[in-house]
Amino acid sequence: MKKRILLSLSLLVLLIAAVIAAILFSSSSSTKKETAQSAHERTAQTNKNAALLKDLPDAKRSDWELVLVSRDSPQPEMNPDLATVGNIQVDQRIVQSTEQFLAAAQKISPAEHLISGYRSVAYQNTLYEGYIKDEMEGHGTVNTDGSTISREQAIKNVQTYSQPPESSEHNTGLAIDMSDIDSLNESTVAQQVAELAPDYGFVLRFPKDKKSTTGVDYEDWHFRYVGVENAKYMTTHHLTLEEYRSLLPD
Ligand SMILES: [Zn+2]
Repeated sequence: MKKRILLSLSLLVLLIAAVIAAILFSSSSSTKKETAQSAHERTAQTNKNAALLKDLPDAKRSDWELVLVSRDSPQPEMNPDLATVGNIQVDQRIVQSTEQFLAAAQKISPAEHLISGYRSVAYQNTLYEGYIKDEMEGHGTVNTDGSTISREQAIKNVQTYSQPPESSEHNTGLAIDMSDIDSLNESTVAQQVAELAPDYGFVLRFPKDKKSTTGVDYEDWHFRYVGVENAKYMTTHHLTLEEYRSLLPD
């Protein structure tokens, strides 16, 4: 009888030991797996960064063509030296690039035209306040059904399509709105035009999947001059101006 009890006790001990061993083994192998995976991820990230930095242009954040103006980086009136291209004004240093980009876009669609270029901070303020009023009164771009809304809500609506004064890139003279149709609508040739842009030093400034870094919804008509080398690099590596600047020295 005693022997039997001893036997079943030792069997029980063996069983418990086996269970513990199994648990320990499985947890150590899953930890190993996780470690291997995160090491792999780290290596992939390092390789990506190395590839990113290998052909990084010799540019600085303080270069005139890389100036950042946004809701997070507002700038007072910049008073750029302006020149006229068609019906808009741009920084005189980008006149030729603008003319050439427009001509190339018109080969894709003859209806391509410049809609907007430089806007002063004062004019941006007038535009912005006008949009807020329209939204509050129910005949805005987002609030269209005639219902009245608060100024706070109206501002939220407006910021999906227009920037506050001192926060619009149009203040720099380095941004253009160009389309084959009126802005605030998506054009079918926009993607082809955007592909050409870097050849003339422009980038599509607010791409579809980058609202988290730019703070602005997709705008297929808004192009920003950054210079040919910067534009090609940013496009190849899918970087916004914010992301690109973060890689550069001051
Ligand atoms: Zn614009």
